[in-house]
Amino acid sequence: MADSKKVIQILQEIAHKIEAEKDFLTKLDQPIGDSDHGINMARGFGEVEKKLPTLEGKDIGTILKTVGMTLVSTVGGASGPLYGSAFLKAGIACAGKEELDLSEFLSVLETATEAVKQRGKSTTEEKTMLDAMVPSLEAMHTKLEEGGDAKAVLSAGVDAAWKGVEHTKDLVATKGRASYVGERGIGHQDPGATSYSDMLEVIRDQI
Ligand code: ADP
Ligand code: MG
Ligand code: MG
Repeated sequence: MADSKKVIQILQEIAHKIEAEKDFLTKLDQPIGDSDHGINMARGFGEVEKKLPTLEGKDIGTILKTVGMTLVSTVGGASGPLYGSAFLKAGIACAGKEELDLSEFLSVLETATEAVKQRGKSTTEEKTMLDAMVPSLEAMHTKLEEGGDAKAVLSAGVDAAWKGVEHTKDLVATKGRASYVGERGIGHQDPGATSYSDMLEVIRDQI
């Protein structure tokens, strides 16, 4: 599905996408947070982007671990350690690999999702990025079992991720800053679920 070169290209496109969505992601964080999600993510992926040329020729594990460490050290806020651990653990899961097939890719996403749950002590229905991550992974597994190709599987994942984002509007947050506003957060979509869906969409479009 993707070799090291493709992974670098996808990361480059993710950095562009996050920069393009920076203001919107920040605006989403206003009513239920502290108005910085887009700023945090753009800072982190801006640093990732600077490191990409040094990662050419490296294996996928090294590339993803470097992304994780960069996010942990440059993104202030909850999303830094959460996405950071997701990429770090994903990198450890594919140490030494020069290529990932579709089912390996899904197991890497599974590892990333588990890393967020563990680091955030969180699960679904808490109005977080997990409300996009978990249902999209389920949809991708289902599509894969039905015999879908990479594009079909990823498209099913993207659709489910955005449906998950919509669903966060109905939820009362029990983790992170959004939990401070409680019921007043109803009607507002989660910024982290949104940034995750943006990233998955980039992967789909690049495959
Ligand atoms: P901060 O809230 O520290 O300002 P960001 O605004 O960058 O950090 O990120 C907020 C996002 O992080 C939320 O929208 C949510 O998706 C995610 N998040 C926060 N806490 C958790 C958690 N415990 N588990 C999973 N995701 C979380
Ligand atoms: Mg914030
Ligand atoms: Mg913050």
